[in-house]
Amino acid sequence: MFKNPVIDQILDSYKPIWALNHAGSLFEWDLETYMPVDAAKSRGFAQAQLALIRQQKVLNLTENVSKAEKLDGLSDYEKGIIRNIKRELRYYTKIPPELVEELTRTTTEASVVWREARKRSDFSLFEPYLEKIVQLKRKEADKLGYEGHPYNALLDLFEEDLTTRDVDRVFSPLVTGLKRILSRIISSKSFPSNHKLEDVAYDEEAMRRVNQEVLRLLGMPDKTFRMDVSTHPFTSGMSLDDVRITTRYEGKSFRETIFSVIHECGHALYDLQVDHSLEYTPLAGGPSLGIHESQSRFWENFVGRSREFTSLLYPILKKNLTFVSGYSEDDIYKYFNLVRPSLIRVAADEVTYNFHIVVRYEMEKKLVGGEARVSEIPEMWDDMMEKYVGVRPQSLAEGVLQDVHWSGGMIGYFPTYSLGNVIAGMVSNRMQRDLNIKDVIARGDVNPIRIWLKENIHKLGSIYSPKELQTKVLGDVYNPEYLVKYLEEKYLV
Ligand SMILES: [Zn+2]
Repeated sequence: MFKNPVIDQILDSYKPIWALNHAGSLFEWDLETYMPVDAAKSRGFAQAQLALIRQQKVLNLTENVSKAEKLDGLSDYEKGIIRNIKRELRYYTKIPPELVEELTRTTTEASVVWREARKRSDFSLFEPYLEKIVQLKRKEADKLGYEGHPYNALLDLFEEDLTTRDVDRVFSPLVTGLKRILSRIISSKSFPSNHKLEDVAYDEEAMRRVNQEVLRLLGMPDKTFRMDVSTHPFTSGMSLDDVRITTRYEGKSFRETIFSVIHECGHALYDLQVDHSLEYTPLAGGPSLGIHESQSRFWENFVGRSREFTSLLYPILKKNLTFVSGYSEDDIYKYFNLVRPSLIRVAADEVTYNFHIVVRYEMEKKLVGGEARVSEIPEMWDDMMEKYVGVRPQSLAEGVLQDVHWSGGMIGYFPTYSLGNVIAGMVSNRMQRDLNIKDVIARGDVNPIRIWLKENIHKLGSIYSPKELQTKVLGDVYNPEYLVKYLEEKYLV
């Protein structure tokens, strides 16, 4: 399908790189699900060795990629291949191996220390590691190069071409809109802030049956997909015919496991619906974290938390969880859509979730820009939580120490969660022009939604950059207006 021989050569050389990615995904999935604890050391060694082979294989593409770049009349597919490999080459050539090694070593140690610091609610344990990580990430930004703010170099690693200007442009109107919605929900009491079902225990076997029904409602293909249990739910795409998701069973408040399943199915469906002609190429997957998260958030919130989907779930819940008979369908809908300012990001509702991201974004920007010191972070965190969310943490464990990201060196990652929500709003708005989303869900067959996503977004893989894809398909780029409008229509009735 590719007319240029040099592109064919690149794709041929890419096959073993694809195979290494495939093995790496399987390693990670195994590590989080079934691997015995003592295997961690040998697995770490194997992963590091594979990463070195992979780096060398990518670097070997340098010459052909620069040849291919100079060709005239390249198709979008060909340009996509070159763009994706060039991003990797840029990282490998600009970041010296010593820095990669130091980052890996520091973050591996920091992850263990962070866990202990969180357990003891003691920031001083983690502080020297965070200082080191910030220093190394600033070094990384300097090596990569950037225009404007050094944080831009780090943002780009997770979301191609994203800048602080883009994020500021999203957050400013988003915060204003969300604050307005939140204060009206609180004053009108239209949606409750807590629910009895949050404390009701469930039988795990019964809940597994409910989740199987959820997979059936979403039409998940059982021959290319499986679901297991892990501490933190995640999706791992191995190939276009093999995607693994996980969930967890906390034993009470049954909505948590249901929504984690729907969320991960959104990621899985994306990975499965990429056009098969892109298999074994650098294009076989979504172009960024923000775009990927838009798919999981669309299914979780726009579909899963809708009144229509609640109606489909209600008889399934009543059949498998006897205590549900004591609650009306409307009760369950409210339980799925509680709104309350809270301290923990992962437990936050659709309305307040993005405030948690703003807090982390503002702090990361200050740290990387050298405007704040690590020692000032705990207090700044508490002040900003009070300013944006309206609640003040009483301990560091439920404040600055709650997230794993910084200990893993993932600075610049958080904004992609909110961009995912924002893009999900844009997707819903655009899809609505072609089909009535609520009617489709109410009929109990979400296939038209899956097909729409496949035809408009999934099948393209990462041919286009996140900004190009949004412009082409959604006619707009990171515009928070649609998310705010959707939340207004849902919560201010
Ligand atoms: Zn996700």
